[in-house]
Amino acid sequence: MGTGVSIAPTVGTGLVGTGSVVTESAGTGGPGSAGTASAGAASVSDVTVVTDRRSLREALAAQHGRRGLVMTMGALHEGHLSLVREARRHADHVVVTIFVNPAQFAPGEDYERYPRDLAADVAALSTVGADIVYAPSPAEVYPAPTQVSLDPGPISRVLEGATRPIHFAGVALVVTKMLNLIRPEVAVFGQKDAQQLAIIRRLVADLDMGVEIVGAPISREADGLARSSRNAYLLGEDRIHALALSRALRAGIAAAHEGAANDVVAATRAVLEAEERVEVDYVALVDPATFEPVTRIPPAGGALDRSAEPALLLVAATVGSTRLIDNMPVR
Ligand code: AMP
Repeated sequence: MGTGVSIAPTVGTGLVGTGSVVTESAGTGGPGSAGTASAGAASVSDVTVVTDRRSLREALAAQHGRRGLVMTMGALHEGHLSLVREARRHADHVVVTIFVNPAQFAPGEDYERYPRDLAADVAALSTVGADIVYAPSPAEVYPAPTQVSLDPGPISRVLEGATRPIHFAGVALVVTKMLNLIRPEVAVFGQKDAQQLAIIRRLVADLDMGVEIVGAPISREADGLARSSRNAYLLGEDRIHALALSRALRAGIAAAHEGAANDVVAATRAVLEAEERVEVDYVALVDPATFEPVTRIPPAGGALDRSAEPALLLVAATVGSTRLIDNMPVR
């Protein structure tokens, strides 16, 4: 594997006029950055796209300074781009991975139909200063069946982990592999997947992985819907029904007062249950680090209270046939 064959933006990837440089690996040989289509487009930078580990290694060697990493499954939206901007604030160069990881999907989930559009993703990433995109195939990431598995512990068994039993072991595996391949100083993950963020923080701490983990706030549409690649599945009126998730969280927060965690959960659940075509999976108020249930809201403004860290209010629900998650802090 491995030559970075440089191809013009219009060849193979369908990138036209973005100014991005696209390099694909094929056959044997060198790194791959070439082309100069960015002249004159100040806000657009060259992105080196690599698809195998040898080209990745070469592309990484050409970068200098502190390295930031953003891991994604592609179908990028403004939420992903905000992570890249955040990574740039913490690093001199930024690597973005695009990989729909089969190990974190159970049979019957949306692995096959998950949206994929590498050309559009690279074009978007070139506007926010990503330097390298690593977009490997499943066979590149898993050349042989993996015999080592990771159990990310108790956080991985509740809520998302209860509904999706193999999910977080698959996430922990691919995150560990990408961190080992790319060796960033800092990696940015979205608060949108709060349980994933908590698990990754714990994984990195427990295994002394020596990478700084930064959590980035949830990016929302103007009407409150948390951005997600899966929003593309919302057809017709379901886009409107999906607004019940953020509305329910706001209702839960409005119900918060000292002590009464149950009231918060009940107010949140009531909004979701009143909404047509919305099927609640869970509503929970948890400690954001341990994901254990919070039973008492700390007194407002209690600066001496050890639990100054806000509790996290979480919802998961299916809207039509699309499963969505969202969360907000409760202070
Ligand atoms: P995904 O492509 O869904 O695996 O997400 C890749 C990364 O982007 C994860 O760290 C997500 O938490 C993050 N992310 C996804 N949606 C959002 C959003 N609306 N706001 C902030 N981060 C997000």
